[in-house]
Amino acid sequence: MQLTNRSQVVVNKQMSFWEKMYLPAVLGGLAITIKHLFRKKVTVKYPEQKREMSGVYRGWHVLKRDEQGRENCTACGLCAVACPAEAITMTAAERKKGEEHLYREEKYAAVYEINMLRCIYCGLCEEACPKEAIFLTDRIVPSDFLRTNFIFGKDKLVEGNTSDTRIDISQRIKAHRKQ
Ligand code: SF4
Ligand code: SF4
Repeated sequence: MQLTNRSQVVVNKQMSFWEKMYLPAVLGGLAITIKHLFRKKVTVKYPEQKREMSGVYRGWHVLKRDEQGRENCTACGLCAVACPAEAITMTAAERKKGEEHLYREEKYAAVYEINMLRCIYCGLCEEACPKEAIFLTDRIVPSDFLRTNFIFGKDKLVEGNTSDTRIDISQRIKAHRKQ
């Protein structure tokens, strides 16, 4: 009984003399290879050579400081609530007298951690933050052999802790303010 009319009859076709030689097929393959030798290469020699990042690339987060070098984050927890991957944890602390030059507001994050293995780089933490404290940057999170090394604390997140230069996120701030 025939259920559909899609069945095909398989023919055991005999190969011709030239097909049995395989030479035309080999030469055809070589011609394709040689043609690609003269085309513009699509690969780059990473890490010596780096591609320009897309303007919308989201990578390693930064916890920003203000112009006076004080941490912007007030440990309100909105970023952690907004995070769909539950990658952010923090412990809030009260600013003490004499610490005004370190923290902008009365409350700050004594501990702030992001699990980079859980993070999906969606940028919702950046959108949720009312203090313009957290931004995603174009820095790539380096690879590692230990899972524990992907828990990034304030030593790796707060601006100025990993390098002396300020991280330029002006374009992201502009986009953030337009929302
Ligand atoms: S980028 Fe998304 S997943 Fe990563 S910490 Fe922020 S909100 Fe969570
Ligand atoms: S980064 Fe922003 S949203 Fe997250 S705790 Fe700090 S101030 Fe609140």
